[in-house]
Amino acid sequence: MSNAEHADLVLTGGRIFTADGAGSWARAMAVRSGRIAAVGTDAAAKALVGPSTRVIDLRGRTVTPGFGDSHVHPTHGGLARTRCELHDARGKEAYLEIVAAYAASHPDVAWIQGGGWSLADFPGGLPRREDLDRIVGDRPVYLPNRDGHDAWVNTRALELAGITANTLDPAHGRIARDPDGTPMGTLHEGAMDLVERLVPPTTPEDLRAALLESQRYLHSLGITNWQDASITPIDQGAYLSLAGSGELTARVVGALWWDRERGLEQIDELVEWRANGRLGRYNATSVKLMVDGIIENQTASMLDPYLDGHGHSTTNWGLDFIDPELLRHAVVRIDALGFQPHFHALGDRAVRQALDAVKAARLANGWTDTRPHLAHIQAIHPDDLPRFRRLGALPNAQPLWAVEEDQMSELTLPFLSAETASHQYPFRSLIRHGATLVMGSDWSVSTPDPLLEMEVAVTRVSPESRDHAPFLPDERIALAEALRAFTAGSAHAQHLDEAGTLEPGKLADFVILDRDLFDEAEGPIGDARVLATFVDGEAVYEAPGLD
Ligand SMILES: [Zn+2]
Repeated sequence: MSNAEHADLVLTGGRIFTADGAGSWARAMAVRSGRIAAVGTDAAAKALVGPSTRVIDLRGRTVTPGFGDSHVHPTHGGLARTRCELHDARGKEAYLEIVAAYAASHPDVAWIQGGGWSLADFPGGLPRREDLDRIVGDRPVYLPNRDGHDAWVNTRALELAGITANTLDPAHGRIARDPDGTPMGTLHEGAMDLVERLVPPTTPEDLRAALLESQRYLHSLGITNWQDASITPIDQGAYLSLAGSGELTARVVGALWWDRERGLEQIDELVEWRANGRLGRYNATSVKLMVDGIIENQTASMLDPYLDGHGHSTTNWGLDFIDPELLRHAVVRIDALGFQPHFHALGDRAVRQALDAVKAARLANGWTDTRPHLAHIQAIHPDDLPRFRRLGALPNAQPLWAVEEDQMSELTLPFLSAETASHQYPFRSLIRHGATLVMGSDWSVSTPDPLLEMEVAVTRVSPESRDHAPFLPDERIALAEALRAFTAGSAHAQHLDEAGTLEPGKLADFVILDRDLFDEAEGPIGDARVLATFVDGEAVYEAPGLD
């Protein structure tokens, strides 16, 4: 055998989940020149070992194709991680410790920015400025909470913004106050703008650093490709900068943001934006259309009106962020231009409108290969379940949300009819109706860890409270189905037809886990960790001690 035929890397003795259509498993895999050279038995892979081949004995561990996150916001998440990151902390004292450490290690930063605290950690959801003042008195502090609707500020920030007991609440916001009118240090909604407008704007360098940090983090979780669900020009600039310098190791599809204040005239700009948005592993081929809002604040577009919390109907059906007729025209046009429509469609009426728009595009343009996908799909009317397969539209699930915790029991279930409530996150039903399920996280809204997300897809129980009852347990799916959605499914959504499965000739994008993921005796799926992540056969993340 000549050197050219020797593998660069051989993995043996593992449990290799190929994610191929036949559901094949293998023991071993060989990689050569960035592609998979062989998948099969130990003997077949070992035959390709040469003098300079790296050989990894998997010792029964699982290997899967690289994970694909089909709806994620890495610039936002990365900015949070490079600033004062509170998302993973719990409780006031933990938050204050992080703020103190960040302030101490960033003496030159004029504003302490970051965020990600939870309303549940403060009485009445109202954190106070005095707590921050004790830690940072000289510099302003501005910390939005994890859903972005409230901010925690210190006294210095209030002073700079000129907010006093005499300041009136702005039209679309509220300043939380003590009984004498003194601002407490929490700003709601539009009142956040009073401080936010003073915060130094994010620079292209900030965003580039944030994106690099996100990429490092997402690779450490096994993610090799993703779709950035809200690309603006500054975001695209950051991707192009990394792609141009060869630092972009992930495969990224950019979903260009559809400005819902405008109409079809913006399509010319999207075409131009796409023409300048292809470099290295970055490709801006998708358009993000935000069809509705979220159920928790009753802006999700619903087929039945919201209830008032006491079982009575209201006259609120939620909001159509894009007029349905405009949506149809827009999708017909962008589909004809070869763009992939990426819908935020959360309520059951939004889902129907998005599917109607895809249908209009199919009728007008025939069967294009644009692979439209609907993200979030919290509620789907049963009549619409078979339409995903019929129309070739992909349900893009964020499985971590399919649990019964506070957000569901307090902010969702009391306001939906029992029937609508039972149509939530119907993953099993979608698969039964032949849909190709794809998955993503919506990070930084929630964790980007695919293993935690897959655990919920399989159990419908939050990994934070594993003793709870499952939410709509009939909609649980098998681990192999969740893995396929996060690998082959997401690769399909990203038009990465050479990735997503482990088959000879395909790109060597794969993940080595620390255990046999299918062995229940090894513990919950979400407790598994990634040992190494490979793109094009190169390790983009590797924990110590793999060999
Ligand atoms: Zn999102």
